[in-house]
Amino acid sequence: MVRSDALLLSLLAVLLAEWLIFDLSVAGVLIPVAIYLILMADGVFRPASPWFMPLVVHGPRDVPAVAMTFDDGPDAAVTPEVLDVLKSAGAKASFFTIGRHLDAHPQLAQRICDEGHELGNHSYDHSRTLNFARPPAMKAEILRGAGAIQKFTGSDRLPLYRPPVGLKNPPLARVAQALGLKVIVWSLHSHDSRIQDPQAIAQRVLSRVKPGDIILMHDGHDLQGKDRPATAEALRRILQGLREKGLESVTVSELLRQT
Ligand SMILES: [Zn+2]
Repeated sequence: MVRSDALLLSLLAVLLAEWLIFDLSVAGVLIPVAIYLILMADGVFRPASPWFMPLVVHGPRDVPAVAMTFDDGPDAAVTPEVLDVLKSAGAKASFFTIGRHLDAHPQLAQRICDEGHELGNHSYDHSRTLNFARPPAMKAEILRGAGAIQKFTGSDRLPLYRPPVGLKNPPLARVAQALGLKVIVWSLHSHDSRIQDPQAIAQRVLSRVKPGDIILMHDGHDLQGKDRPATAEALRRILQGLREKGLESVTVSELLRQT
């Protein structure tokens, strides 16, 4: 049973108990149903919401490290710049890649691996309607994204998974449980999707960062023709600021091993 099923059963148990012990009133039905619907909406839309499944939101808070993560790549223009910045800072990161982008840029996938970074799964197509898919379609999409990564890593272990747009639902909870999938979200969003100024992105991250944070940035875009011109320069400033704070940037897997 996944957590969303347990929540539904709890709601039914409350209604049944009310019905058996008292007379069911309108408020007695509406209040538990409203609470249930609010928790469900929170589970879908708030990336760190725990109502559907166990999630990794951040690493241990007592180690001097954070994980930089990059979604939606690799991208022919931005990813090489990001890799250059990481290399010159001696930092590692996790790239939650879109499978079709990996297939389009195998040399970048190889470079990410060769330089000691981690490839994470961000689905194969990054469909914005994936969260409405039924479990078999959801599972197929996740496994196809994982397969695109495993061609480069050679590992038969499923890579870490981050759902597109951070949306979750009960089918994802069921698939994750069946596959033993580790689902990674983030504790600090750089807001590089809406902020264009690298200094402002860096300022936002550095003013909030805490040990153990998983930081979300983007080195690609799920839509064609859109790019991420601020990412590499923002990253350069963030890594410099992290160093001044005594925080190392590692991959998500490495951060989680430090527990
Ligand atoms: Zn994405």
